[in-house]
Amino acid sequence: MDLALIKSAGELVALGHDLVQRGNFVGANEKYSDAARKFAKQGDAMGANIASSHAAVVAIGQQTANPMAYRIASQSLLNIGGFMMKIGLREIPANQLATELDLLATELEVLSLSPTNPQQFKDKAQALQTTAMQFRAKMTGQVLVIPELFNKTVMTGEAKAPALMALAEEALGESLILDDPKAAAEHYQSARLWWMQAGRQDFADAASIRVRAYGRAAKCWFCGREVSGEGIHFVTMACELTDVVKRTGEGSALPTFDPVSNAIFACRGCYSAVFKLADDLAVKRTQELEVKIERELNEIRAQIKNIRSGR
Ligand SMILES: [Zn+2]
Repeated sequence: MDLALIKSAGELVALGHDLVQRGNFVGANEKYSDAARKFAKQGDAMGANIASSHAAVVAIGQQTANPMAYRIASQSLLNIGGFMMKIGLREIPANQLATELDLLATELEVLSLSPTNPQQFKDKAQALQTTAMQFRAKMTGQVLVIPELFNKTVMTGEAKAPALMALAEEALGESLILDDPKAAAEHYQSARLWWMQAGRQDFADAASIRVRAYGRAAKCWFCGREVSGEGIHFVTMACELTDVVKRTGEGSALPTFDPVSNAIFACRGCYSAVFKLADDLAVKRTQELEVKIERELNEIRAQIKNIRSGR
């Protein structure tokens, strides 16, 4: 066997570093894992921990959306305390990297929550705010290693906060939409400002649309109830409006129709009653047609039978 081909554990770690710099994380993971096994065989527990920590960090590249991958790497890093980890072009104390990984894992966990009722929306908002505060408190001024390594995104810890705060305000808005649409609109207004701070004009614009819709109030064309929260508590229904009909709405503080789109406003109660009646009529009419078609088909079948039997 050619001894020159057998790499020492230290050489394998160096090869791993080299592969990381070239963006080959799968290859780097293999080298680090091989190194860890060699160190362990030689009884070098610290060397083995360092090598497996590097392996665990680069393994995140294969599953950046899986919080468990971050937690596993973080646990491994905590075994080696303040050791300076070499990650790409950066050097960072292991315990500091562990903190970053835990925060990123928490962020993924919180973002994946899918609330279905107001209390769950409130809980999600609270968790988002807490995560934003932790990024600010623990990672201020520090460039996050993981986004830079895997996504080529250079961002500091506190740069994570505005988007998380925006999402928290939106979750609070959703928690209130059934009870208090105007308060929901105010939270979307706050969300809009956070999105602008986060540099996301697209999300800011989407929040603006909610601000307008949830803050808008109207008077139901049918029953006269005054409601706010467009799309939730009242909706628009297309119709024909003559100028004479439109003039009957003058003097009302809240609009009963939208003059631009020629649609009336209907509270959810009236809208759903009309919708249900229309639906029931459609079902009834369809059943009548089915009976009629079946009868005609039977007549045609009978005629064909007669032709075939030569009558
Ligand atoms: Zn109504």
